[in-house]
Amino acid sequence: MRELLDLSPAELREYFASLGEPRYRARQVFEWAWKHLVWDFSRMTNLPVSLRERLTQEFTIGAAEPGASLMDAEEGTEKILLKLPDGEGVETVLMREEDRRTVCVSTQVGCPIGCAFCATGKMGFHRNLSAGEIALQVLFFARKLKAEGERVTHVVLMGMGEPLLNYEATIKAIRNLNHPWGLNLGARRFTVSTVGIVPGILRLAQEGMQLNLAVSLHAPWDDLRAELVPLAKTYSIREVLEATEEYIRATKRRITYEYVLISGVNDSPAAARALGKLLKGRLAHVNLIPFNPAPGLPFRRPSLHRVEAFKRELLKRGINVTVRHSRGVRIQAGCGQLRAQLRANPG
Ligand code: SAH
Ligand code: SF4
Repeated sequence: MRELLDLSPAELREYFASLGEPRYRARQVFEWAWKHLVWDFSRMTNLPVSLRERLTQEFTIGAAEPGASLMDAEEGTEKILLKLPDGEGVETVLMREEDRRTVCVSTQVGCPIGCAFCATGKMGFHRNLSAGEIALQVLFFARKLKAEGERVTHVVLMGMGEPLLNYEATIKAIRNLNHPWGLNLGARRFTVSTVGIVPGILRLAQEGMQLNLAVSLHAPWDDLRAELVPLAKTYSIREVLEATEEYIRATKRRITYEYVLISGVNDSPAAARALGKLLKGRLAHVNLIPFNPAPGLPFRRPSLHRVEAFKRELLKRGINVTVRHSRGVRIQAGCGQLRAQLRANPG
């Protein structure tokens, strides 16, 4: 069986052409799956019954079973583990804040980078997700919100995995979610978060889409960064910043730099000053994320006082900065944590 959500509109057209069906079938089926969020061919009432039967035999749609979920009603955060047909699980989070409904999606099961402070990194790399598996995380919550008369407004690729190491599937999922026949989510509603894969950033700059780019920096110096992010040995901070400047030239989008603040590691005033110097004069926004503890991670979150002091150093240098007081901490919504917890307490 193939997964319908893995196909682009162009591929659907090719498929229907191969069956000798009219061109407009592609749009009909894409609209059912991606706009009306109907994942049952027998309910696609504008298709001939024989075609519905054929599609049922050939395709799954949104093949993932909702598994364990955790909810923080007060905070409006909801996290779900979606079980894929091969038994792997993927985490997706919905954040409700004022008029925003943001879905945080995973792009890989596990991650090959292995950052020292990241629960996903600790679990190693299992496999890439397909375009359909990436998109269905958004569509899963889109269906849920639709029942409540609401819709997904933003998508952040900040769940498990490194999106730019699963480039084709990630871009295909974004293009399908962006397509006017489907959810029609504007390119500016997406944020791709990367640990700093330089060739991937340069390639993304050439896609002709105004996607937001977030780059996980975590340190102003290469040697400190390499202690936290093994990939830093491959791409220096200078090379990463050259790539982000190219991204700005091509897209005119401001770059977000993510910085996980870890007590006694990268949260010193000297680090803040060096970061300020590095980013001064650039089209940049810094997102400070106080470290989110998880079992097996040997770090501590800095005090609120220390976080504020770091922020002040950046503000003094004219750098835009916000502190993301990790939402979802109470439901263990930090990167890779739900899955780790389910492993620890199966059932
Ligand atoms: N691989 C990509 C996207 C997924 S991680 C990347 O690294 O950017 C999304 C964000 O969560 C990254 O900024 C990452 O540094 C952050 N993160 C990972 N583990 C964390 C933890 N324990 N506490 C706080 N933030 C964490
Ligand atoms: Fe991978 Fe991002 Fe976690 Fe690093 S922080 S291990 S790149 S998911």
